[in-house]
Amino acid sequence: MAKFLFLAFIGLTGISIGLGTDSWSYCSNCADGPLRWTGNCASGKSQSPIDISFTNVTYKSFSDWNWQNYGSTLSTKFTQENTGSALQVNLPDKKFFVSGGGLVGNYTTAQFHLHWGPENGQGSEHTLNGEKFAAEIHFVSYNVKYPNLTYAAAQPDGLAVLGVFIEVGSPNSAYDKFLNYTSKVVNGNTTARIAPFPLSPLFPSNTSKFYRYQGSLTTPGCFESVTWTVFHDSVKISASQVAAIRGLMMNDTDYIGLNYRPTQALNTRTVYASFDVSPATETPTVADSAAGVKITTSLLLLMLIGALFLN
Ligand SMILES: [Zn+2]
Repeated sequence: MAKFLFLAFIGLTGISIGLGTDSWSYCSNCADGPLRWTGNCASGKSQSPIDISFTNVTYKSFSDWNWQNYGSTLSTKFTQENTGSALQVNLPDKKFFVSGGGLVGNYTTAQFHLHWGPENGQGSEHTLNGEKFAAEIHFVSYNVKYPNLTYAAAQPDGLAVLGVFIEVGSPNSAYDKFLNYTSKVVNGNTTARIAPFPLSPLFPSNTSKFYRYQGSLTTPGCFESVTWTVFHDSVKISASQVAAIRGLMMNDTDYIGLNYRPTQALNTRTVYASFDVSPATETPTVADSAAGVKITTSLLLLMLIGALFLN
């Protein structure tokens, strides 16, 4: 009964649009785990998330982004929610809009939520050349030609989701605007009103580099209604900030722990990149520092050889 009530509740939230009567969880070995989700989740051929691999991305030029109110601090409060399966911030109705960036139509942003894992090596839903990030934030917008998020979620051009990879590093004051209040929503199915804040600072400073493909919701019923944007540049939050997310509970006794769906088959889809993914640009931060070490080592060797010859 408790489980039914829990599922009924999250069924009402934005993240679990179209939940059927079947129960589901992120428990990999369980009968209701991601490998056994039913309906579109099992039969769909355009499912999300996916691994974004440079071996099969296609360059495409996209129009500039057009963000409406993303940089503004509105007067209406936001509602932070622990859905029992994710941390979500519900935004005031039809205040934030995104268009351009190759999106067909205008989309209004209804909520954002996070996916994470128990440790830094996992948590993101999408992966980049097989690399998993500690977390991933999803900004969920629906096409303004539809009346609401739930209706739009079942239309092929209904949703646009913007995804940003999150790494653990330096503190991020923009994320404090909601992570400072996670203590108010520790248990599943709790909400708290929080002061509004601009959304733009939650994004990487460079939003011109992104990946684009057609996919699905990553929770049951896995509707194939999402135009996905995954930004190339990640953002950083601190270890204590990610600890605040990891402290969230599914109910009174169990931690959410992890809430990402494993990557799905690309099948016949094309993944577009808004930039040239040549070896010069594909080097992620970690490899940059490795290259730095290599240069330093070479320099040291040269210096050593030089010193030997001078002697
Ligand atoms: Zn999501």
